[in-house]
Amino acid sequence: MDSGDECPGEPEVYQAHTGKSLSKKCFKEDVKNRVLRTIREFNLFHESDVLLMGLSGGKDSYVMLDILSQIHDPGRLIGVSIIEGIPGYNKPSDIRYMKELARERGVDVIVTSIREYTGLSLYEIVKKAWRNGLNVSPCTYCGILRRRIINFYGRMFGADKTVTAHNLDDIAQTMIANILRGDIIGLIRQNPSFRYRNPKFVHKVKPLRYVYEYEAALYAAIDGFRFQDTECMFINYAPTFRAKIRSVLYRLEKDNPGVALNIVRSIDQITSRLINEGYVKPVSLPMCGRCGEPTNEGRQLCKLCELMEKAGITMPLYQVNFKDYMKLKSLEYPGDHG
Ligand code: SF4
Repeated sequence: MDSGDECPGEPEVYQAHTGKSLSKKCFKEDVKNRVLRTIREFNLFHESDVLLMGLSGGKDSYVMLDILSQIHDPGRLIGVSIIEGIPGYNKPSDIRYMKELARERGVDVIVTSIREYTGLSLYEIVKKAWRNGLNVSPCTYCGILRRRIINFYGRMFGADKTVTAHNLDDIAQTMIANILRGDIIGLIRQNPSFRYRNPKFVHKVKPLRYVYEYEAALYAAIDGFRFQDTECMFINYAPTFRAKIRSVLYRLEKDNPGVALNIVRSIDQITSRLINEGYVKPVSLPMCGRCGEPTNEGRQLCKLCELMEKAGITMPLYQVNFKDYMKLKSLEYPGDHG
């Protein structure tokens, strides 16, 4: 079903932001078409690209996996699932389930962990940081480490892009946070066309950027996806500023369906113009003086090395799952990515 077409089926799903009631089939088609349009509009990737997907095991990553495996050659998709090492969360059974779903779609998944990369689980890192009197949210460590590991694997596999399943709600929250902090540069860099330059940095794309979180949840539920039954024990330590934005946005969206979509679309239109008309240039990222990974402008030491040092962890391993890597690398990737 394309936008504007009437759904011929039985109304089964109410899509609040369009005011339409759709059959489950049309609803899923609508979400898939929106993802396709996003990919085309921002030129997110090409047919020949090898894509490294971060698969957390949640509903959003399931939807991304399901749609991308339909519209992109599964032989050019690789998943990476990262076990954070948080007691009771992201259990091996959840990861096995995601791996199974990926295999059914012809996609290989490499499983790694924060412990494998750093030598310590996220829980152990956070305990050390807190013991050292560091007042940093576990989510800060978690986010930086996941981004780092995804980029690392993307590079190892010669991926053209790394892909994450951030949904519309995530993007809208980040944009509002940028505006409220007065961080206009950060806001512009949310645009999918913005580029960082660094030979070790793999460009990141987010094809679910116009898909609401409730839509991803409905899509996954329609497919009988088994949702994770445990919440992360650190959820209440999530940055409070973002949590406040999230709750205000939910209330606004409830009373005025479509608000989050309008925010993201409007900001994307403005920032796209700034980028396409050459007012915003790509930014070259320096390398961290310690670990040699890309870091933000003006930094000698990357945020991860800085936070690890402050937590009293002076010799993180920064290593990868070579067993799975060798196994997957022996698979044939067409083109010159092998
Ligand atoms: Fe990581 Fe925070 Fe999410 Fe837990 S709540 S998985 S620590 S980002």
